[in-house]
Amino acid sequence: MEHSGSTAAAGSLGDPLVELKGVNKHFGELHVLQDIDLTVRRGEVLVVIGPSGSGKSTLCRAINRLETIDDGEILIDGQRLPEEGKGLAQLRADVGMVFQSFNLFAHKTVLENVTLGPVKVRGTKTAAAKEEAMTLLERVGVANQARKMPAQLSGGQQQRVAIARALAMRPKVMLFDEPTSALDPEMINEVLDVMVQLASEGMTMVVVTHEMGFARKAAHRVVFMDAGQIVEEAEPEKFFTDPESERAQDFLSKIL
Ligand code: ADP
Ligand code: MG
Repeated sequence: MEHSGSTAAAGSLGDPLVELKGVNKHFGELHVLQDIDLTVRRGEVLVVIGPSGSGKSTLCRAINRLETIDDGEILIDGQRLPEEGKGLAQLRADVGMVFQSFNLFAHKTVLENVTLGPVKVRGTKTAAAKEEAMTLLERVGVANQARKMPAQLSGGQQQRVAIARALAMRPKVMLFDEPTSALDPEMINEVLDVMVQLASEGMTMVVVTHEMGFARKAAHRVVFMDAGQIVEEAEPEKFFTDPESERAQDFLSKIL
């Protein structure tokens, strides 16, 4: 699928891959996810945007089952999220996640960071896992760092390793939670470029980011969250130039 130029044609998207239906989540008194209904189709790139504390990370963590939900349901490729056990491990393998902080295993080499999951969870043979890891590291442009420890890499390189590590599990969908927020400005583009590439290859992606350039280049749809609710959904061009809701207008006037 080509995403060059502005928004890609949403008509070419596949069937629902991630479905949230009436999802609610509280932290004590705080109603952090309020009746969330959201469908992400196969091949879709969805950007989630919204003020700090609006529930974006909780939404991602709920999709990956790092957080429980109070009611509603979440389906991945038609399967309800399991509570625990083998099914949960399988689900986590299907849903790759990249966090703001790179979260690499500090005491493992770059290569080991990428091979560990496939060997432990997928049962891939070490030699095959290494070969695939090198291909992935090549793809994200850090193959020459394979034997180093994470701390020897720049932030941008570490985040690209984190992407390779998630891809090594061959996920059906990739979640990115503010993947460039902790990076020095000069490193942001090297990570976004990898994400744009991934999007153009047809990966289904949910991306929490305020990077408008990325959204315009790669996203099919932008979802604006505020105070635990999805307030607005639109194509990126429409959202950034002519948002409907006052809350989105107010938010955009502060970040743009
Ligand atoms: P965002 O990613 O949009 O900044 P979050 O999903 O991280 O928002 O947080 C939404 C709200 O939930 C915030 O008010 C945050 O303080 C609160 N919150 C997040 N995680 C927890 C937690 N584990 N316990 C209690 N409150 C939490
Ligand atoms: Mg967050």
